[in-house]
Amino acid sequence: MTFKSQSKLVILLVSLASLTLIAFNFYSSKIKSGIRAYINGESSYSKGHKDALLNLTSYLDTQDPTYWHRYNEALIVPQSDNKAKNAMLRGEPDSVAFNYLLKGRVHPEDIPNIIWMFKNFNKVPAFKEAVDAWTESETVLLELTQFATVLKQDMDKGPMDEQSKKKFFVTIANLNIKLTALEINFSTILSNLGRKVEKLLNYVNIFVTCLIVGSLSAYLMLIIAKLHKSRNELKNSYDKVFDLNLELDTFVYSLSHDLRAPLTSLQGLVKVAATENEVAAIKQYIVLMDTLLDKQDLFIRDVIALLQRRNLTPQPSAVDLKLLIEDAFSFNSHIKGNEKIRTVLALNKEVEEVYSDVVFIKIIVNNLISNAFKYSDPNKADNYVKVNCSYSEHDLIFEIEDNGIGIPKEFQAKIFEMFYVLDSRKGGTGLGLYIIKQSVEKLNGTIQLTSTLGEGTKFVISLPKFENELNQLV
Ligand code: ADP
Repeated sequence: MTFKSQSKLVILLVSLASLTLIAFNFYSSKIKSGIRAYINGESSYSKGHKDALLNLTSYLDTQDPTYWHRYNEALIVPQSDNKAKNAMLRGEPDSVAFNYLLKGRVHPEDIPNIIWMFKNFNKVPAFKEAVDAWTESETVLLELTQFATVLKQDMDKGPMDEQSKKKFFVTIANLNIKLTALEINFSTILSNLGRKVEKLLNYVNIFVTCLIVGSLSAYLMLIIAKLHKSRNELKNSYDKVFDLNLELDTFVYSLSHDLRAPLTSLQGLVKVAATENEVAAIKQYIVLMDTLLDKQDLFIRDVIALLQRRNLTPQPSAVDLKLLIEDAFSFNSHIKGNEKIRTVLALNKEVEEVYSDVVFIKIIVNNLISNAFKYSDPNKADNYVKVNCSYSEHDLIFEIEDNGIGIPKEFQAKIFEMFYVLDSRKGGTGLGLYIIKQSVEKLNGTIQLTSTLGEGTKFVISLPKFENELNQLV
C-alpha cells in the first residue's frame, strides 16, 4: 500500500471514528435527558396520586365536598400522564401527547425528550419494562377511581357508620401501597437504564478515543519512518556526490599530472637530441621518444575507455568465455618477454558460454590477464598464469592466478584506487584495477585479492548470475 493511500485510510478512519463519537455522545446525552425527564415526570405522577388519596381520606373523614373536589383535581396529573402514554402508543400526533403531558405537570422543556424516547425506545426491553410498570399503575389508578365513585355514592346517601368508614380507609391504604410500589419500580428501572447507558457511553468513548489515538500514532510513526528513510536517502545521495567530487578531484589532478609528465620528458629528449650531431645517438633518442609516445597513447586510451564506460548499464547477452580468455592468453603471450609464460585454463563445459555483459566481462578478463603477464617474476624459471572459471549456486566465479612478483600487504587496498601505480618501471597507468573494480560493481559482483610478495597473486571475482541466464542459454 502506498503512503498516499495509507494516509487516506487513516484520515477516513479518524473521521469516521470522530463522527461516531460525536453522534454517540449526542444521542446518549439525549437519552440521559429523556430518562431524567421520565424520573421527574414520575415524581409529579406520584405526588398527584398521593394528593388524590390524601384528599379522598380527608373527604371520608370530614364529608367536606372541598376535599372531593381537590381529590379530582389532584387525580388529573396521573390521569393526563396516562392519556399521554396511550396517545403515544396509538401513534397519535406528538401535539396530543404534548398537551396531556403539560397537564400532567411535566416541564415543557422535558416533553420533547419524553416523546422522542418513547417513540424510539418503546420496543427496547429495558425501556418497555418501565412502560409496563406504568401501565400497571394505570390499572390501579382506574381501580382507585372506581372505588372513589362507590365511596362518593355511599357518602351522598348520608352519614356513614364507623365500620364502613374503616373498610374504606383500609382499601385506600392498600391502593396507596400498590401505587407507591409500582412507581418505585418505574423509577428504579429507569435509573438502572440510565446507569447502563452511562456505562456503555464510557466504554464507547474509551474505545473510540483509543481507536483515534491509535490510528494517529500509527500514522505519526509512518510519517517518522518515511522522514527517516528520506533522510537516509538524502544522506546516501550526499555521500555519493561527495565521493564523486573527491573522485573527480583525484581524476583532474592525476590527469593533469600524468598527461604533462611524459610531455616534459619528451621536451627534454627533443632538446638533447637537437644538440646531438651523432645519427646513432639521435636514433636512440627517437626510440626513447617513441616509447614515451606509446606510453602516453596507452594512458589516453585508458582514460577514454574509463570515461566511455562510466555510465554504461549492463546489457546481458551470450558471451563466449572460452574464446575471450584464449584470445587474451594469445595476445599477451605474443608480447615480447612473455613467450615463456605458461598459460593454464580450467573451464567447465557449462561456463564455456555464459550470459552476461560482454563489454564488462572483457574489461575484467583482459585487464586481469594482462596484469598477470605484466607482473610476472623474471627471476623464476617457470612462470604461469592460470584462469579458472566455474559456477556456484548463484554466481559465476573467475579465479586469475599468477606466480609473479606479488604485491606487498600494505599496498593491497591501494592498488584499486584511480591512477595508483606501484612500480612505475612497468609503464602502467594505474587505471586497470580501478576500471576492473567499477565493472565488477556494475555487475553487482565482488573482487577479492590474495597476494604474497615474491610468490604470486590471485584475484577471485564473483558475479551474480543474471536472472534469466539459463533460459537465455537454452
Ligand atoms: P597498471 O597495471 O596500469 O599500473 P593497475 O590498476 O592495473 O594499473 O594496477 C595497479 C598496480 O597494482 C600495478 O601498478 C601493480 O603494481 C599492481 N598489480 C596489479 N596486478 C598485479 C599482479 N597480478 N601482480 C603484481 N602486482 C600487480
